[in-house]
Amino acid sequence: MPEKLLSIEQKRPQGDWRDAKVEFRKGTICYSAAAKNITYLGLPNPRQWQPFDADWKLPPDWKQTILAGMKERLRKYRSFRLFMEICVHCGACADKCHFYVGSGDPKNMPVLRAELMRSVYRRYFTLTGRLLGALVGARELTEDVIKEWFYYFYQCTGCRRCSVFCPYGIDTAEITMMGRELLDLIGCNINWVMEPAANCLRTGNHLGVQPHAFQDSIQFAADEVEEITGLPIEVPINRKGAEILFVMPSADYFATPHYYTLLGYLMLFHEIGLDYTLSAFASEGGNFGLFSSHELTKRLNAKIYEEARRLHVKWILGGECGHMWRVFHQYMDTMNGPADFLEPPVSPITGTHFRNALSTRAVHICEFTADLIHHGKLRLDRSRNDRWNVTYHDSCNPSRAMGLLEEPRYLLKSVCRNFHEMPENTIREQTFCCGSGAGLGTDENLEMRLRGGFPRANAVKYVKERHGVNLLACICAIDKATLPTLLEYWVPGVEVAGVHELLGNALVMTGEKERTADLRGEPLVREKSAHE
Ligand code: SF4
Ligand code: SF4
Repeated sequence: MPEKLLSIEQKRPQGDWRDAKVEFRKGTICYSAAAKNITYLGLPNPRQWQPFDADWKLPPDWKQTILAGMKERLRKYRSFRLFMEICVHCGACADKCHFYVGSGDPKNMPVLRAELMRSVYRRYFTLTGRLLGALVGARELTEDVIKEWFYYFYQCTGCRRCSVFCPYGIDTAEITMMGRELLDLIGCNINWVMEPAANCLRTGNHLGVQPHAFQDSIQFAADEVEEITGLPIEVPINRKGAEILFVMPSADYFATPHYYTLLGYLMLFHEIGLDYTLSAFASEGGNFGLFSSHELTKRLNAKIYEEARRLHVKWILGGECGHMWRVFHQYMDTMNGPADFLEPPVSPITGTHFRNALSTRAVHICEFTADLIHHGKLRLDRSRNDRWNVTYHDSCNPSRAMGLLEEPRYLLKSVCRNFHEMPENTIREQTFCCGSGAGLGTDENLEMRLRGGFPRANAVKYVKERHGVNLLACICAIDKATLPTLLEYWVPGVEVAGVHELLGNALVMTGEKERTADLRGEPLVREKSAHE
């Protein structure tokens, strides 16, 4: 019942914030990583345990390991050093985190979340902290602190909304990443991150889909496109010498509503005659390494580039995924780049040079399609999307991390006649997270997901009540997986779709049969009153 989660405790908590004791309650945390996944990934301390256990079976030297890990990262990452030092506790970030808004827990204020780490930094890495201890906000590193880190660093989606409001640019997401990375060193990680990561290294994608099953799924989608349009289409897999390698999140070929996005891509590629290939090994654009450590991020990202090299493609085109693009745009170049064995990306249809992708040689599908529309290369019938009254959720990573703000909107307005923005302070750079990113999109912590997603849902409710919005479009696989549950809880009657699903509906393909249904198989309803 929404009323239950709306009773958010806002009273000042009793006691001292430095008290690290945490209550682990079902619905608010994710379960621990299974030993088999930790072993497969070659990470330390695989074992059976759960956060509810009193004994977490930490290695005997856990404290030295964490402090040595902190020391190494303070040396390696200038941002980490800076963020440990420069916060002036102005509080500008305090009410900007969706987990704080939805839970009322002060330790979910970004400033306090960071302080959980900073207090340990002070105690062990500053002279004043060593001499004056609690007087300057320093804390001993204890097992309770480790448990508290686990609780709160896995109640942060790394969305970076707080950083937009910090006058010093402190990025709490990076502190969370450091926290998770340190916890990895002593085997405190969650299965919802580690299992997809292990699967991805083993078979190429999060679900562990084998190449033959991947091929079957893609063929199934191709058959479905034929059923809708009457056009037989071919989808090349592992084709050496293709111009472009197309990489998408695996959810696009095994989950709903993602699957309709896949249909949209395939229709588009067929219509423009794109020379491309999929890969049965780089069958995952998503990168759960980002939710664990820089090292794992790098390993998972590298396989995409290895495939591009093996298949001798010129450049990479990427599908609708959030963290895939955070990794490409913020990390790929220094981790595995420069990708200078590939060619600078140029659209084979319009001749546009994607100069923004010069170092990564990877272009976002929204940039690619928006360019096609801008050059008049697609015939579009917007009335085919008349049953939808659409708003757009800026997925955190493509919006805040790579500035992809205009292209999805341009696309949506080109393929739909009814589009309404949510309030300004909840979109674009200030967008509210879905509440389930960074590996938290599991049902074990559903209460916390619904609380964290509350501000996003509240903005959707606003446009639903004001404009009759019934569809939330987005370009992230995690959003598509988790927003339906969130909206069903807070704003029933609003569905979720990828931008390329709507493109697929509107796309008039050469030689197609008359369309009577949309990609979901629902009858096409055209409104006379919609604005052309
Ligand atoms: S990065 Fe996002 S989830 Fe994490 S503290 Fe900042 S606003 Fe909250
Ligand atoms: S806005 Fe920045 S400086 Fe102010 S409390 Fe938050 S992190 Fe610290």
